[in-house]
Amino acid sequence: MSGADPWAEAFAARHRLRIRYETPLPGRVPAYKYDDEHGPVVVLDSALPPERQHFSLAHETAHVLLDHGDEIAPEEELAANRLAGELLLPDPLFSEHTHLPLRELKAEFPHASFEVIARRRLAFAPGVLTIVDDMRLTRRLVADDFAAPPRPVPAEWRLIERCFRERADLDDSGEGIRLHGTYVDEGRGVIRVLLVTEEA
Ligand SMILES: [Zn+2]
Repeated sequence: MSGADPWAEAFAARHRLRIRYETPLPGRVPAYKYDDEHGPVVVLDSALPPERQHFSLAHETAHVLLDHGDEIAPEEELAANRLAGELLLPDPLFSEHTHLPLRELKAEFPHASFEVIARRRLAFAPGVLTIVDDMRLTRRLVADDFAAPPRPVPAEWRLIERCFRERADLDDSGEGIRLHGTYVDEGRGVIRVLLVTEEA
């Protein structure tokens, strides 16, 4: 009942686990894993977009690699998310591309979502990632060792609004910062702008 997903199959084979597909999953989780006599099995929700499935697969794989038990502590979830990003976008392949704009990075790593790519990029290119969905602030992540206010400053909002209005990726700079906005409409009913703020 699943569509063939060569990326997921290759990833699973590399990490010696198997994939099963269901939808919806019990408890509305995006994925879960169990062990049978042949080893770990990751169950994915076939109704989710492929990038979401891939992140869930990498996240469950991270739990296996980190030897987490059935009761998962909050800090173990964070560790699994971090490792999932590294498994999806491995170094040094990824870090060789982090000078590229987000849209070109996405073309280079199509199996991962814009958000996963942008979050991972923060580890290599210090700055701020602001994610706005339908003109509402969803997330603002500040890289370690980077100083930024918790809410977007007026210049950031102006570029975000222009991206929504012009439905385009846009740049701006000034006052020691450089801004790059990426406009994402994947036909799923939500329009997203990811704004990267870096030192000029
Ligand atoms: Zn987890």
